[in-house]
Amino acid sequence: MEKHIEMNIGVPKFNSLAGALAEIFGSDIRLGQSFRIPGGDINKAYGMQLSNGKILFMKTNEKQKVDLFLSEAINLWAISLTNTINTPKLLAYGTDDSEEIGYSFLLMEYIELGDIKDEFWNVFAENLASMHKADTSSLVKNGKFGFLQDNFIGRTKQINLAKDSWVEFFRDNRLVPQFKMAEKYFEKDDFSKMDKLLNKLDKILVEPEKPSLLHGDLWGGNVLCDTKSLPLLIDPACYVGHPEADIAMTELFGGFSGKFYDAYKNTGLLQSGYSERRDLYNLYHVLNHVNLFGHSYLSAAKAIIKKYVE
Ligand code: ADP
Repeated sequence: MEKHIEMNIGVPKFNSLAGALAEIFGSDIRLGQSFRIPGGDINKAYGMQLSNGKILFMKTNEKQKVDLFLSEAINLWAISLTNTINTPKLLAYGTDDSEEIGYSFLLMEYIELGDIKDEFWNVFAENLASMHKADTSSLVKNGKFGFLQDNFIGRTKQINLAKDSWVEFFRDNRLVPQFKMAEKYFEKDDFSKMDKLLNKLDKILVEPEKPSLLHGDLWGGNVLCDTKSLPLLIDPACYVGHPEADIAMTELFGGFSGKFYDAYKNTGLLQSGYSERRDLYNLYHVLNHVNLFGHSYLSAAKAIIKKYVE
């Protein structure tokens, strides 16, 4: 019988920011000062003070990109369903049509940042492992690996078509689409190397003991530390896959504290030989960087492909 997935994420959609604020906080609420928050390279981010003293976090983009925010809301909702690791509370999303050009927005709880204390990395590793161990059956229809819908990795569409095999999922939904998009950067010799790699993928990757919900874009910028020194995940590109792919991504841009890796290893989720698979998982993100930012990531992509075929 086909599995039916209910997706009521409980985040209301509005066609005006003022309307959203009035609905959530009451009609006498006023917007106070707002301040730009640097760091994101896709959206504009703001802290917004309200007349009741509360501060909210808001991301904006062009009006027609509202689907990006719905997708982000679905990802954060999927993580929050697991009850394992904190995420900012979602308030609303939608478009604002009050000005001529208009914009799309995502509104959520503002997270005040705190200092990373000793226990932070242990707690983060344990929370993340709990998320990786959570039941995923309500998140994929007709297969073990996939997600409720396609989403985005950066600005690139991420395909989450359900598959029963992790190797197949990673080949057909991750490596092949990114390599195809990046074809113009590669030469003939690279194509035959990539073919060779795709044909031996089942000799390199292993199926996980059980599928896991992944953050999907787990670099340092997407983990916040709040004033209680507790971790929160932001900006996910969720899917159900092999937990090793999340850990590999954490190692791509410099890595986290050693305490994080020690604690995560104790959870038993990394299978033997993980470090030999790590760069292959990251080939997906490196190819995505070639697609988003061009030539500067090409030699890194070629080096990974070469490593696995020679
Ligand atoms: P983008 O979607 O453009 O990648 P990010 O999600 O990276 O944007 O967020 C942009 C900036 O806002 C980052 O510096 C991030 O740390 C910060 N940020 C994200 N979510 C919150 C939040 N809920 N509260 C406070 N700051 C946040």
